[in-house]
Amino acid sequence: MLNIVLFGAPGSGKGTQSARLIDEYKLYHISTGELLRDHIRRGTELGKTADKYISQGQLIPDQLMIDILDDVLEKEAAGKNGVVFDGFPRTIPQAEALSELLRKRGTDLHAVVGLEVPEDELVNRMLERGKQTGRADDNIETIKRRLDVYHNQTLPLKDYYTDKGKYLKINGSGIVDEIFQDIANQLEDKTGVKRRKKK
Ligand code: AMP
Repeated sequence: MLNIVLFGAPGSGKGTQSARLIDEYKLYHISTGELLRDHIRRGTELGKTADKYISQGQLIPDQLMIDILDDVLEKEAAGKNGVVFDGFPRTIPQAEALSELLRKRGTDLHAVVGLEVPEDELVNRMLERGKQTGRADDNIETIKRRLDVYHNQTLPLKDYYTDKGKYLKINGSGIVDEIFQDIANQLEDKTGVKRRKKK
């Protein structure tokens, strides 16, 4: 199995690079943000709860998020080649829970791909995405709160995973294809996994 965390600030390109990774390595994609937005669209109880936090740019409480992830791993990800975790973990307790969830399934986290992008570029990308997709939390006020939350609650994970020797530093500015090449090269060095042959 190959289990990868796609790590980075909001707007750093996690969704875009996840799509490349799942295609290239045939992995199962879990985007916690997408999962929550799907519940909001369907008007479920979880969606109503999640919406209160997401619209404020705040994180969903850890235990709720961890229970949701456990459930998805159980129902959807079993028997797959591995998982790309996109947007999870976002706090140290979530990171500790992830390692336990993987351990109890007899596997491990192999690498954390850290997309590093300057702050002004993040803001511009999210504003542009807001215009293109109408995503509700891509407005300047909520973007600023999300970036604060990222710095205070999520960024400590960079040191946490660096200390464990799992963090791969990627320059996330520039051309999507070149960023992906860098990810693929570093993943191969770290885990030995090879890209599928190009047709
Ligand atoms: P994303 O699509 O990953 O940018 O996530 C959008 C929003 O969903 C975030 O701003 C949070 O409110 C919520 N969210 C997504 N993933 C998590 C998580 N792992 N923990 C807590 N909240 C999350």
